[in-house]
Amino acid sequence: MQAYMGGIVPTYSVDWKKNSSMAIFLAGCDFNCPYCNTPELIDFKEEYLIDVLSLKREITNNSNNADSVFFTGGEPCLQRQALLALARHSKNAGLGVGLSTNGSNPKTIKSLLNEDLLDYVELDLKTEFEEKSFEKATRSKNFFNPTSQILQSLYETMKLLRVANRKVKLTFKTTIVPGLNDDIETLQRIANRIGDYDAVWKLRSFDNEKTLDKDYQEKTPVPKENLLVLKEKLETQNPNLIIET
Ligand code: SF4
Repeated sequence: MQAYMGGIVPTYSVDWKKNSSMAIFLAGCDFNCPYCNTPELIDFKEEYLIDVLSLKREITNNSNNADSVFFTGGEPCLQRQALLALARHSKNAGLGVGLSTNGSNPKTIKSLLNEDLLDYVELDLKTEFEEKSFEKATRSKNFFNPTSQILQSLYETMKLLRVANRKVKLTFKTTIVPGLNDDIETLQRIANRIGDYDAVWKLRSFDNEKTLDKDYQEKTPVPKENLLVLKEKLETQNPNLIIET
């Protein structure tokens, strides 16, 4: 079996572990967020193909340096079989498994949960759950997959994670981007959706150094002071809110 893999970081800091994770960046994504800062990982490029066996070897060889493996991307859940094989291998090596996902593929999440392969999930909530705003933030719809369907998949992922929430540590992540989701009303609507999860909600500013849509390089990142003001306004709805700087 092969996987599209864009890079490995042997020791990578993830919120849920005291020690370091090994990060594996699986390439290919079904969204085209204009502010995406890993645009090189959106396409399934032939140059990214690698044997899953050699990735398993990398995990084993690195197991003294990290206590977990964090699968990120791109969107790792698009490569269901490879992700399952790598997560099983990580667990068998005594490592924790973390996943960063945009939530569009509940089938993969369900398979991972059914086999008890997940310890941590970071679910990217791009904006409020409204078709026009969601499409503007993700540019994800296509002929076969309208925005309503993508949102439905995200709801399913959230339902699965709600059930798994006692066992699986959960972080919601929202990247604040001017003009897409930086107004308090939008953020309050997200807060209403996630208020009853046992989860951290992490807000961070987008980074304008490298973006999929070059126009976003002209936008100014949200300063820390503004993020703190948003935090103060949202904290009553969601006390588990943190700012990533
Ligand atoms: S930011 Fe958007 S386009 Fe980029 S990898 Fe994440 S979900 Fe895909």
